[in-house]
Amino acid sequence: MQVDLGALHGLTAVDPDTRRVRVRAGTPLHALGPALAAHGLALANMGDIDQQTLGGALSTSTHGTGLGFTGYSAMVTALRLLTADGNLRWVDAAHEPELFAAARVSLGALGVITEVELQTVPSFLLHAAERSEPIDRVVAEFVQRSRDNDHHEFY
Ligand SMILES: Cc1cc2nc3c(=O)[nH]c(=O)nc-3n(C[C@H](O)[C@H](O)[C@H](O)COP(=O)(O)OP(=O)(O)OC[C@H]3O[C@@H](n4cnc5c(N)ncnc54)[C@H](O)[C@@H]3O)c2cc1C
Repeated sequence: MQVDLGALHGLTAVDPDTRRVRVRAGTPLHALGPALAAHGLALANMGDIDQQTLGGALSTSTHGTGLGFTGYSAMVTALRLLTADGNLRWVDAAHEPELFAAARVSLGALGVITEVELQTVPSFLLHAAERSEPIDRVVAEFVQRSRDNDHHEFY
């Protein structure tokens, strides 16, 4: 059975003090950034594309780059899970730590994530530098450049 969460999108709550937000799981990542920016907030990190849903990105442990950053799953502070027996419940580290840890990267195996609480950060600007370089130099300097920059990657 294929479940289409396309209509399950948008922010449902914003706490300006903790910077925690609640987002419906079908929200595509390209819509999440602008919705957060309207509140002066942002995700701390993102992957290369923004076409995925939040639920899909979490469930597959989608990640970006950066030694000081996590993937999407570690930004989650709670999630709402619809299990196969029809139960709909909020799960977090304080109340159901094992289920919460597993559900953050679960490929849909534990049920359908319908809503997610995320820790966000104040909105910020990035300076991007992109260029071609010989592969030997890219490989030789990869570790040092990863330490010197918030984000570093090559193709
Ligand atoms: C061009 C391209 C670039 C990419 N770049 C990166 C990158 O930079 N970094 C990275 O880490 N990954 C990257 N990916 C991988 C991508 O982030 C994952 O494939 C992501 O899961 C796709 O999200 P989706 O919404 O399409 O999920 P789907 O493909 O629909 O689902 C993926 C899995 O998650 C489950 N799932 C989806 N929604 C829910 C939900 N609401 N509740 C429970 N389970 C759910 C599904 O059952 C399935 O098992 C890239 C993929 C592509 C095609």
